[in-house]
Amino acid sequence: MTWQATVLTLYPEMFPGPLGLSLAGRALTDGVWSLKTVNIRDFATDKHRTVDDTPCGGGAGMVMRPDVVAASIRSIKDLPGPLIFLTPRGRVLNQAMVRDLAQGPGVKVLCGRFEGIDQRVIEAEGAQEVSIGDVVLSGGEPAALIVLDAVVRLLKGVMGSEQSGDEESFERGLLEYPHYTRPQVWEGLEVPEVLVSGHHEKIKAWRQRQAEDVTRRQRPDLWDRYVEAKKVDK
Ligand code: SAM
Repeated sequence: MTWQATVLTLYPEMFPGPLGLSLAGRALTDGVWSLKTVNIRDFATDKHRTVDDTPCGGGAGMVMRPDVVAASIRSIKDLPGPLIFLTPRGRVLNQAMVRDLAQGPGVKVLCGRFEGIDQRVIEAEGAQEVSIGDVVLSGGEPAALIVLDAVVRLLKGVMGSEQSGDEESFERGLLEYPHYTRPQVWEGLEVPEVLVSGHHEKIKAWRQRQAEDVTRRQRPDLWDRYVEAKKVDK
């Protein structure tokens, strides 16, 4: 079954963009997933096709109007998947959320611009608020590309090896171990000896240690959760 992505945006020409290339692009051509864009501006009702207005209460910038955005969302009500509004105010995207989306029938992604979207329509339409991280982008479109890229690579048949996702960063609560390839000596630097030993048990143990070390060092938040989960397992 084709996984269906629908993007509500003021800039449909930004799609598929990078998702038209490489793994995602091939999967799109092969019908593993489909992409529909809806131009929110098509739902404006005045002759200037206005989609925004000044913020109630004052302040800088413009806010996307609830009537226009709601009409665009309602036009796709029969399409599959949860409605996600991309916003820095949302729950930060993680691999578990991505995996959930990949297991469903699709997603509807609402992209904001300006200062954002009138909060009433977000609540009235039951949109889940999702952020791609603690940064402010100029619009939801690059965030939508990130969400879709992360999901599409998990769809069945998209990644080269069915296995290659299982050991990746976050899948086991740890960051991934480092990778090396040929040449075995590059500018005087050698590939760690254990990796060319052919000793699978030792390689596995080395990779586990490396994954634990990098997680402890770079992401103490993940490390604490990993240690807690291990305690519960026992
Ligand atoms: N005034 C908003 C705030 O401070 O939270 C930022 C608005 S931003 C300039 C315009 C749009 O970009 C947002 O409505 C949202 O759709 C998108 N955006 C910006 N940063 C994002 C992030 N970290 N995650 C997801 N979407 C983001």
